[in-house]
Amino acid sequence: MWWTQVGDVEVLRVEEMLTPGFDPAFLFPDYDPEVLLQHPQLAQPNFFDQASGKLMSSMHSWMLRVGRHVILIDTACGNDKVRSHPAFQRFHMLHMPFLDRLAECGVRPEDVTLVINTHLHVDHVGWNTRLDGDRWVPTFPNARYLMGRAELAHWRDPQGGLRVHPMGAEVLADSVDPVIDAGLVDLIDFNEEFLPGLSVQALGGHTEGQLAVRIQSQGQSALFTGDAFHQPMQVYRPDWSSRFCERPEQANATRRALFEQAADSHALLFPAHAGKPHAGHVTRRGEAFSFEPLENSTR
Ligand SMILES: [Zn+2]
Repeated sequence: MWWTQVGDVEVLRVEEMLTPGFDPAFLFPDYDPEVLLQHPQLAQPNFFDQASGKLMSSMHSWMLRVGRHVILIDTACGNDKVRSHPAFQRFHMLHMPFLDRLAECGVRPEDVTLVINTHLHVDHVGWNTRLDGDRWVPTFPNARYLMGRAELAHWRDPQGGLRVHPMGAEVLADSVDPVIDAGLVDLIDFNEEFLPGLSVQALGGHTEGQLAVRIQSQGQSALFTGDAFHQPMQVYRPDWSSRFCERPEQANATRRALFEQAADSHALLFPAHAGKPHAGHVTRRGEAFSFEPLENSTR
């Protein structure tokens, strides 16, 4: 089982799928394959699938256990969901054993106390809901769901997220609106502490109101970084935004500031889609950065 500890917080990974994802030249408009030659660890099979020429892409939730709390950060893609955009065929009508993997962690859906969506994209809100007959119902009926106040407003604004990404409408309809209608959603502001040692900070650029979740516990720190970077190769190329970043310039500045913060504070980074071992540290190399994958992330 994937497991580590940050201070008094246990961190587990609940996998939905781990497969080749996008061609890097599609995901990153500025892609240059030279990066694989300069940094051979990026060409290893855990990060790059030579056969397909695609980047390895993980879909997972991060689970935090602290005290009586069971917290899920992001909820992957979900089952039974119609995803009509051609780029999202990988997420269309899935039948993944995600809840079985949750059970392997000793957790039933009704045990989850808190769900946090770093942002409201297709691959971060899917398990917010599940299909019950012909209705979408909350997967975690006893949880509060935390969403960024700015992020939700952005998707409610006709000039906001849907203008750039109209394919988000079906995502909101089946994975966001039902938990709001069930009265389970609390909105959170940037820099708010929601439990002792657990807070959120702004990571704008990928979406307007994207959040990082921050742990500070017993002198250790960690950041759950949503899609501030999709792939470890961006640690070496912080100016490569993905094609799904709404504001690439802002996303680049956010990414660079995040790596500076992580390097200076020795915060462990938990991105949403990195291949094995799925988490790591960033260190400074002069003006640049280096990615140090986490070792010993099992028990
Ligand atoms: Zn994502």
